[in-house]
Amino acid sequence: MLRIFLDKIEEGDSHIDLTGEAADLTSGFEGGYLVSPVRASLEVTRTGSEILLRGHVAVEAVLECARCLDEFVIELESPIEVVCVIGSNPSDLAEIQGFIGVEAAADYIDLTDEIRDLLLVLIPLKPLCRADCLGLCPKCGTNLNKGSCSCSRDDHDSRWDALKRLI
Ligand SMILES: [Zn+2]
Ligand SMILES: [Zn+2]
Repeated sequence: MLRIFLDKIEEGDSHIDLTGEAADLTSGFEGGYLVSPVRASLEVTRTGSEILLRGHVAVEAVLECARCLDEFVIELESPIEVVCVIGSNPSDLAEIQGFIGVEAAADYIDLTDEIRDLLLVLIPLKPLCRADCLGLCPKCGTNLNKGSCSCSRDDHDSRWDALKRLI
């Protein structure tokens, strides 16, 4: 789980590595799947009831190329910086980006929502397996990255089609 237990956080500076299941992030995730684990590497500074977390979060995603429909893997990686305020009302801070309210009686800080918000926005709307993906032949469906086909192409270079689709 992408949780940090409060009794593990010492006063002052420390470092915490977290791993979580991709399934923790996948609600609302369409168009691919995430590969476990989700990783977070955090520098932690605790000053009484305030805890500053700074570092990086990452997960691999398997996406379908919008042009050739092949699956490919990309690394989603983001910096994270969050201030957790212990003894505050979580709903008071929920709307303020970069702050997490933690009830006084809580045992842990749950970073799942924070990490989900950071990583899922990195998924491109039109994922491409590579910038110059040639896509599929519009006539026979051959993946033109892997081979050519014998369909006539009206004597023009199919790479121009790929370019036109970008414009
Ligand atoms: Zn492709
Ligand atoms: Zn063809």
